Amino acid sequence: MQIIMYLTKIFYKVGDIPIFNPLYIHAYMIHQWLLNFRSQPLSVNQKSAIIFSPHQDDETLGCGGLIALKREMEIPIKVIFLTDGQKSHTATPWIKPPDNLIQVRKQEATTALHILGVEVSDIHFFELTDSTLSYLTSEQSENTIKSIVELIQTFKPGEIYVPHRKDNHSDHECTYKFLKVAVEQSKIELEILQYSIWIFWLSPLFIKLRFSDLTGAYRLCINSVLEQKKRAVTVYKSQAPILPPRVIKSFLLNHHEIFFKTQAKI
Ligand SMILES: [Zn+2]
Repeated sequence: MQIIMYLTKIFYKVGDIPIFNPLYIHAYMIHQWLLNFRSQPLSVNQKSAIIFSPHQDDETLGCGGLIALKREMEIPIKVIFLTDGQKSHTATPWIKPPDNLIQVRKQEATTALHILGVEVSDIHFFELTDSTLSYLTSEQSENTIKSIVELIQTFKPGEIYVPHRKDNHSDHECTYKFLKVAVEQSKIELEILQYSIWIFWLSPLFIKLRFSDLTGAYRLCINSVLEQKKRAVTVYKSQAPILPPRVIKSFLLNHHEIFFKTQAKI
């Protein structure tokens, strides 16, 4: 156990040096390929939206620019957090989580979304236990889907944003699965856009990821709100020590957010 912890620590340190980190090279190359050759420009439309976020920070990292741009135009947005975020520090046991981590992450999410222009009344916390979405009983899954259906039918969004179906985190992939079923049950016509958090970093091309998973890519230029997004990301102080620095930098430096309109079968 001690050895694994020691090796993980080294990986975190070395991981910030691009030439020593194959994950960074993989993520960088796919991102550049999509941006330059395989994506279409996306402009912000007038459609209301619900952003589904498995944990408190995914919404800002993956869609912070989009949220800020939509709210600038006073377009209604709701943000739904599926889990309570209590397990964020389990992979880095040498970093002590803040006391009351659940409450801290809730407060961080509320503050970050305030910076992006979202009212507290438009933020919902489902408070399912972090990292358990793939282990829910069928009754718990059905109840979660039912809550999502009710939200969709009440708010009637034109668009829904959700992590990519191959985002390589069980909570992220389950959020997509729940959402897909809920949209079918809600019988509301809307568009699903998948955002990326871990897919470029942790879903290896030709092993977990196929080129067909990357079709339907759109790039949204977020230049005008990039500073706003950076301020919102830095609010997540509880997550800063545990996210690999290169991953955070990639979100802070990118002038585009990438979304996938692919409607592949689960
Ligand atoms: Zn997450």
